[in-house]
Amino acid sequence: MSPKIKYTKIFIDNQWVDAVSGKSFETFNPYNRNVIANVSEGDKDDIDLAVQAAKCAFRRKSAWRLLNPSQRGDLLNKFADLVQRDLEYLAQLETYNNGMVIKNSRRFVKLAIDYIKYNASLADKMHGNTMPTGASFSYTLKQPVGVCGIILPWNVPLLVFAGKVAGALAAGCTVIVKPAEQAPLTSLALAALLAEAGIPAGVVNIVPGFGDSAGAALTHHPDVAMISFAGSLEVGKLIQQAAGTNNLKRVALELGGKSPLVIMNDADLNIAVPFAALGVFTHQGQICIAASRLYVQSGIYDEFVKRAVEFAKTLTPGDPSDESTQYGPQIDETLMTHILKCIESGKLEGAKLLTGGKRIEGSGFCIEPTVFADVTDDMTIAKEEIFGPVQSILKFETLEEVVDRANASNYGLAAGIFTTSLDNAMQFSTHVEAGIVWVNTYLEFRPDVPFGGFKDSGIGRENGTDGVDVFLEVKTVTMVLSNDF
Ligand code: NAD
Ligand code: MG
Repeated sequence: MSPKIKYTKIFIDNQWVDAVSGKSFETFNPYNRNVIANVSEGDKDDIDLAVQAAKCAFRRKSAWRLLNPSQRGDLLNKFADLVQRDLEYLAQLETYNNGMVIKNSRRFVKLAIDYIKYNASLADKMHGNTMPTGASFSYTLKQPVGVCGIILPWNVPLLVFAGKVAGALAAGCTVIVKPAEQAPLTSLALAALLAEAGIPAGVVNIVPGFGDSAGAALTHHPDVAMISFAGSLEVGKLIQQAAGTNNLKRVALELGGKSPLVIMNDADLNIAVPFAALGVFTHQGQICIAASRLYVQSGIYDEFVKRAVEFAKTLTPGDPSDESTQYGPQIDETLMTHILKCIESGKLEGAKLLTGGKRIEGSGFCIEPTVFADVTDDMTIAKEEIFGPVQSILKFETLEEVVDRANASNYGLAAGIFTTSLDNAMQFSTHVEAGIVWVNTYLEFRPDVPFGGFKDSGIGRENGTDGVDVFLEVKTVTMVLSNDF
């Protein structure tokens, strides 16, 4: 049964409102391409109203930032409890709107609850330092940066919402969230829960709409102090430019990747093969940390490739809402076409297609789990972020060589290694250029460890204590001691 859609309007000052223009846009179920709702289409005028509300909630005397910090934590914990209460509904809604298989949607809602609770626990721990220096005395205060714009991707919207909004709120900021046009529904459902938890009006505002209108208006707005964004590198660059146009905004950017996963000769293949598959086929490859460059050492290469193909063939696509489905659709036709084009380039440039490679006819935007072997570093499928179910296997000889090859990318989000040698693990994790390194595991998320990228994969970190620090300014106060004591 389809989840009931309760919220489709813009959320400003804890009120549900139509767009100023009166416009709305359709949102789809990517599995069967049915229109599931018409959502109010926010634009510059709506962003202006939302920023006004957030600014007022930040500045006024009873402001969010002036609440006792542990009270902010309590309210966030109430929000987490409500997400827990509605876990099944929220998971169904995420699946319905972005095609994530239901088991993963549930896992991500649980993780979102952990993210919120972790940030709640930090609300009263944003301590500064004291610097007594003889004749004067200084201390630092950590204060919220101000009104923040949060721009979300469609691939894991609920989780990214939870991490960013909880971090900003714990810090004392007020926010305007612009969900992705492809999957806005869980953000709207979370807004209702924030209000139910008692988060004051204006602290969180949600304006669904398109990137080049609502998104651009937010990134150009002079009263917005910071933009926290997760999405593509291309849009990340536009955001950084816009952030320097009318005022100087801080930016936190969680961008794409082309993450290398290295399998050494001494790895346990019973673990490495399924993790490598999980790393690239989870959510049909639509994850920023996808293990999309799989480097396998020459001594186990043939055996690994054989097992990787066998594993990929076990993933049967289906309706992501069905309990047994492990593998669903891509988000839309644009992405599907891009992925199929990448697959064609792999074939043309000489990679060996061993399984998959085609659209599954008669379904939504489903593509077969695809494995290429004999991929080389110069091929398009080894360089571009495909954002689809394409495992590209490359051969290597030595650890030193593979570290150089892994680092020869403009991206630097995640990296992984499977090995039973401590030295291999330490050498790799020391020298690889990536914000997140997994050893004998992959795709592990935790609220208490920082998440973000080197190089073109981003600026700033989410989660851990860094996830709150990005929303804070440091203020130094210096007092002179009178010398007539
Ligand atoms: P996208 O960049 O196309 O869109 C992301 C958001 O930006 C959407 O809300 C969109 O409306 C908005 N946007 C588009 N143009 C804009 C503009 N000119 N100004 C302001 N906002 C604008 O990304 P996507 O297709 O939603 O998501 C896929 C990408 O996101 C991949 O590259 C993926 O790797 C990345 N991603 C990264 C992380 C991370 O944490 N590192 C997490 C999820 C997704
Ligand atoms: Mg996109």
